[in-house]
Amino acid sequence: MSDFMQQIKEKDPEQNEFHQAVHEVIETVKPVLNRYPEFRQAAVLERITEPERVIMFRVPWMDDQEQVQVNRGFRVEMNSAIGPYKGGLRFHPSVNLGIIKFLAFEQVFKNSLTTLSMGGGKGGSDFNPKGKSDNEVMRFCQSFMAELFRHIGPNTAVPAGDIGVGAREIGYLFGMYKKLSNEFTGVLTGKSLNWGGSLIRPEATGYGNVYFAAEMLTTKNDTFAGKTCLVSGAGNVAQFTTEKVIELGGKVVTLSDSSGYIYDEEGIDTEKLEFVKKLKNIRRGRISEYVEKYPSAVYTETDLSLGYNLLWDHKADCALPSATENEINGKDADNMIKNGVFLVGEGANMPSTPEAVNIFLDHKILYAPGKAANAGGVAVSGLEMAQNSMRINWPMEEVDQRLKQIMKSIHRTCLEAGEEYGVAGNYAAGANIAGFVKVVNAMLDQGLV
Ligand code: NDP
Repeated sequence: MSDFMQQIKEKDPEQNEFHQAVHEVIETVKPVLNRYPEFRQAAVLERITEPERVIMFRVPWMDDQEQVQVNRGFRVEMNSAIGPYKGGLRFHPSVNLGIIKFLAFEQVFKNSLTTLSMGGGKGGSDFNPKGKSDNEVMRFCQSFMAELFRHIGPNTAVPAGDIGVGAREIGYLFGMYKKLSNEFTGVLTGKSLNWGGSLIRPEATGYGNVYFAAEMLTTKNDTFAGKTCLVSGAGNVAQFTTEKVIELGGKVVTLSDSSGYIYDEEGIDTEKLEFVKKLKNIRRGRISEYVEKYPSAVYTETDLSLGYNLLWDHKADCALPSATENEINGKDADNMIKNGVFLVGEGANMPSTPEAVNIFLDHKILYAPGKAANAGGVAVSGLEMAQNSMRINWPMEEVDQRLKQIMKSIHRTCLEAGEEYGVAGNYAAGANIAGFVKVVNAMLDQGLV
């Protein structure tokens, strides 16, 4: 295994996040490889870690000052053994090939866990939508799609949103796809309701994470009622995580963006959450404005020199990270345990460093890895694809019920896989094993392609 990891690193030395994601998976699937020597014989690790195809392209666009700007676009088609490449697009200045490969790799296992027919892919750009006018965002999205459209399709690859890509961006991307392809199809998910979107898709990742966490609590005869929760981020996942926690009787006391975080000891209630939604989704402002509106809350600016995040250093029962990768390091994990956190549900992708994950596992707290806990988003994207194919719309209750069932099923699958392979109660290992076995078996069925 260490030789294998060495090869991965030597091949692409700068792709740290990808190495981290691969390392985490291969460490936990060792018992599977020991049980099925034919998997090793067929070089499944070498095959599953190499994308089927990588597309990189220039995205030129004109800003409002009539200056030409050039960004880089990516689409990684990681694995199509169980369905078309499915996975979102991220627009953020930190985006590079390593980050998109890590996200695409995670997506393969996540999609496999949903029980739906979806392969794994991911894409995006180093474009920063922050501070751009709507017209600039539209011109960028149109230029991005002018290249991407030839690589996607309802049966080939179906992108969706991620960081920096919400309803506005999906609209502009879809408009351009439709114009170029002369087809109105379900080629993107996360569409607006009145032109092919699914009810509950915006809510799905956050709600799904809370449903998964509620399932974990059930194993301890417990519920969210009265639980204090730390949530990071203030975007799509954070907002709907907060909404569901409130609905289930819990209290969310933090939210953040890249500039800092707010701590509201009284809890963020429905009215305050509505304020955050308008602030972030419509006015596109900063979370610091929360304390101007609600002065009893405290705002703390991000201080990277500290080496840890003060957000995770408050008394709480649950932590639901919903911002970005590696936002919880070893020190943060220690702080959480010290402050009473006994449940971590990852709304974000890979928000915990390997050191943090080991601390959670050593303390045997309830720890749900992102690829299981945040799979609700892509699951409802799968349901959006199904509705588009049938040209029907399911009512909200039906989609929500299906989402709940899928999260329950993923929870059960992780537990059962953990038990079967001698790592009972380890959801991280269970998720990797279950996702891996299904995809690898499909790859072997389909021959060396
Ligand atoms: P949004 O763009 O809606 O929100 C992201 C939030 O995280 C913002 O508050 C943003 O702050 C903050 N953030 C982003 N990058 C950083 C950073 N480097 N440091 C600190 N804060 C940061 O994205 P989503 O809510 O959609 O995504 C959040 C996470 O959930 C990501 O990891 C994503 O991959 C994952 N996810 C999302 C799914 C979805 O359906 N949307 C599905 C599954 C996973 P700021 O505005 O300052 O950048």
